[in-house]
Amino acid sequence: MRRKIVAGNWKMNNDLSETEALLNDLIEQVPNTDVSVMVAPTFVNLFQAFNVLKGHNIEVIAQNMHQEANGAYTGEVSASMLQSVGVNTVILGHSERRAYFGETDEILAKKVDTALANELQIVFCFGEELEDRKAGNHFSVVENQLKNALFHLEAAHWKNIILAYEPVWAIGTGETASPEQAQEMHAFIRKTISEKFGQDVANELSILYGGSVKPANAAEIFAKADVDGGLIGGASLKAADFVAIINAF
Ligand code: PEP
Repeated sequence: MRRKIVAGNWKMNNDLSETEALLNDLIEQVPNTDVSVMVAPTFVNLFQAFNVLKGHNIEVIAQNMHQEANGAYTGEVSASMLQSVGVNTVILGHSERRAYFGETDEILAKKVDTALANELQIVFCFGEELEDRKAGNHFSVVENQLKNALFHLEAAHWKNIILAYEPVWAIGTGETASPEQAQEMHAFIRKTISEKFGQDVANELSILYGGSVKPANAAEIFAKADVDGGLIGGASLKAADFVAIINAF
């Protein structure tokens, strides 16, 4: 049985008191469930998020990290710094990091190695842009993103990797991939991983969908055979919506 996961990426939202309020709402509302629930507050609120969530079944994860261990990288945060506040999981490769902060596949391959060397689990994001899909190149774009950033790994590393397919045209736009489009791509991703790393790795791998998932569309997306959960942006900022998405499984 693959792990089911619903992860909330709060991006650059929520100051300290808003973070505490949202976490307290989640403590009240998140049900006892076999779904792994994760939230990714901004770096400055990670420490307090762990304090608020102590003893609760919601994992605090980070939105990003730097590929180097330490040094003169003003404004950056390292894997060991994340670990020192209790983080076990980090999101890497989000399309906003790729588009606004110049994160290439090559940089992401290094980040992946650093995260794994520090025993962090990774939620690795990737997905095609609208022009790629219109041109019919979406499968090759996704395949290359996976190859460039992850194909140097060994099969054993994959127990610490969760994939998040996020078509860029569906992120924050209100436009969602149809459940069929999501399933078609997730099946392709699983096949690609299986061909390179073996059927066992592919069978165990959780592949999340991200892109305007809401309470209204979550159930039909999560019902698809190769969709193992969601990475949720906008709808993770309201406890009621996030909980409704968790309950959509
Ligand atoms: C995201 O940023 O990972 C995301 C899926 O955002 P949204 O749900 O707002 O489209």
